[in-house]
Amino acid sequence: MLQYTAGHDVGRAVTGKGMPLPSALVDITTIPELRGVKTGPNGLTIGAATTLSELIESAEVQRTIPLLSESAKSVASPLIRNFGTLGGNINQRPRCWFFRGEDFACYKKGGDFCYAVTGDNTYHAIIGGELCYIVHPSDTATALLALNASATVAAAGGARDIAFDNYFHGPREDVLTETVLKPNELMTEVTIPTPAAGTRMAWTKLKDRQVYDFAIVSVAVAFTVDGAGKWADGRVVLGGVAPVPYRAAVVESALKGQDVRATAKQAAAQIRTVARPMSLNTYKVDIAQSLIERTLLQALA
Ligand SMILES: Cc1cc2nc3c(=O)[nH]c(=O)nc-3n(C[C@H](O)[C@H](O)[C@H](O)COP(=O)(O)OP(=O)(O)OC[C@H]3O[C@@H](n4cnc5c(N)ncnc54)[C@H](O)[C@@H]3O)c2cc1C
Repeated sequence: MLQYTAGHDVGRAVTGKGMPLPSALVDITTIPELRGVKTGPNGLTIGAATTLSELIESAEVQRTIPLLSESAKSVASPLIRNFGTLGGNINQRPRCWFFRGEDFACYKKGGDFCYAVTGDNTYHAIIGGELCYIVHPSDTATALLALNASATVAAAGGARDIAFDNYFHGPREDVLTETVLKPNELMTEVTIPTPAAGTRMAWTKLKDRQVYDFAIVSVAVAFTVDGAGKWADGRVVLGGVAPVPYRAAVVESALKGQDVRATAKQAAAQIRTVARPMSLNTYKVDIAQSLIERTLLQALA
């Protein structure tokens, strides 16, 4: 976790305006038990300190859950993937320029305003953003939610497992944090259940530029179809649109029991029923709709 300090003013006290910084850092990448990919009876377990490059290179991950490899490949640049860990990627703080900016005492820093409401909200939330309009930045978290993963969290009192469905929370639950992790808790590993035979998966990510960048919108899908090509079970998850990796239940409901190829367009359009764009980001709704359709069809190809 030392990398965290590299681009920041190490040792600067929390001012209430600047992004909150820790008073001490512990480099957990030196703990061997937190690294590596293990195959178990129920699926794959990946240590939280496993680097993104190690994850991408894992033949087992590529073979069984290529969706996760693809999402990790789309993170940042090779240099960052060589150093950045899975746990760090999932638990990274949001990129909102008001949260990161020195001059904005926003809700997330204990202030009383979200500057995205009246300011430049080009990249902010289009779904579920009430109070604070950050978007969740992690590509791997989006894929892991689609894969129905769970996190193991360690604390002085013992360890507990938390499904990714319950790991992230929105601003209404606690505007100061993005996850249910308590102080002094650490994510130690992530477990991904073995997908059902024949599971279709796909990942797409739209960003502003071809080189490394965060998602404007990303989509992770993992689903099964019956013999007639009809949706049996699965998940459609969006990144870059909401304060949490967002499970698009309205899209999943529209696909239920339907021919996926024939229904993809109409199901994707359901995202409009939950979208509440801000003044400058209506374009993200169109992108989300197109990308959902495209990702569903890609998974069938
Ligand atoms: C230029 C740039 C471009 C980027 N582009 C992308 C992108 O396109 N997609 C994307 O998803 N990410 C992107 N990132 C984010 C990057 O991938 C993460 O910053 C990186 O993965 C963090 O990894 P780390 O191991 O160094 O975590 P750190 O920086 O050390 O930690 C990040 C946060 O997670 C917490 N944390 C770390 N490990 C754990 C753990 N095991 N349990 C609990 N909390 C933990 C830390 O306390 C800290 O708050 C980008 C970053 C940069 C600088």
